[in-house]
Amino acid sequence: MITDLWTAVTYNANHRPHPVAAALLYAFCPTAAYWYLAGAVPTPPFDPAWQVLSHRAQAPEKGLKQRLAEWGLSALEMDVYHYFSSVKIARNNHPVPAPETLPIFRYTIPPERRFGLQNPINDHFAGKWDNFIEYIRVWLIVSRDWLNYAQLPQTPNLKQVFLPISPGGNLPPLHYPFWLWTTDDQTSVLSLILSPGELEPIRHSLLEEAVRPLFLKKQQTHAYVFNPTTGQVSSPLMALSTETFRSWIADFALLARNGPYPPLRAAQGRSACQSCAFTHLCYLDKELNPQLNAFTTLRHKSGNARQTDL
Ligand code: SF4
Repeated sequence: MITDLWTAVTYNANHRPHPVAAALLYAFCPTAAYWYLAGAVPTPPFDPAWQVLSHRAQAPEKGLKQRLAEWGLSALEMDVYHYFSSVKIARNNHPVPAPETLPIFRYTIPPERRFGLQNPINDHFAGKWDNFIEYIRVWLIVSRDWLNYAQLPQTPNLKQVFLPISPGGNLPPLHYPFWLWTTDDQTSVLSLILSPGELEPIRHSLLEEAVRPLFLKKQQTHAYVFNPTTGQVSSPLMALSTETFRSWIADFALLARNGPYPPLRAAQGRSACQSCAFTHLCYLDKELNPQLNAFTTLRHKSGNARQTDL
């Protein structure tokens, strides 16, 4: 998921359209930059890891049990317990990262246990039971993995912070969201949730660029990338040098301004679009919007795609 990017795109302090946001979206998919510049409102997909961190940051005093009660899902407490136990057994027996995510360990709540509970699942988990299970997994298991790997205590303070990313040149800074964990001994961890392959070098660079001023202030701030699937934590090793990062942003910003805007992700298959917030615009039912194909061809032949009639 790239929920951090969608959050930056819609953050009020970032004027819209923002050239750096457009550049980042272009790097993700040129058509996404087109939609953004055309004024479309992004509809980010449900992101269980992001939801868990948001909920924990907003109300750290609330435990999972209380959350379930508020959502009308207390009836699933035993299922949650069974799931947690099954993950512990799987992990004890299979020493690979997150064995519970392997197809042979896929956990589902029996249909009879779901009876009467679809409405809260619709309201809080985008209608998908898989989202519920993943939310539980991140809350109970992955979060602990992150804290262990990052050598943080199990109850650090957590908040979302928007830090300015300065792209250099004439481009204004973009305020970008990160998760900041702090402890009583003043140790801080600035983190980004990132699965491998999701705009990796660029998002590693965003993290590196954001943490640099904190280092300059001599705070003990570490920058870590949190893997939402395996729970592993790593340094942003793929970060570009500041010079290269800024050069990439400038190039992508130029492309975002002038096009072309081919749906490159769709060309890899629909699953490549699953973290996009504009799928409702690119797909009609299950098919790629035919106008999008026509538009892409048009753009290659003529001038500014934003002037074409989509
Ligand atoms: S739905 Fe796919 S093709 Fe369309 S903008 Fe998003 S990533 Fe690109």
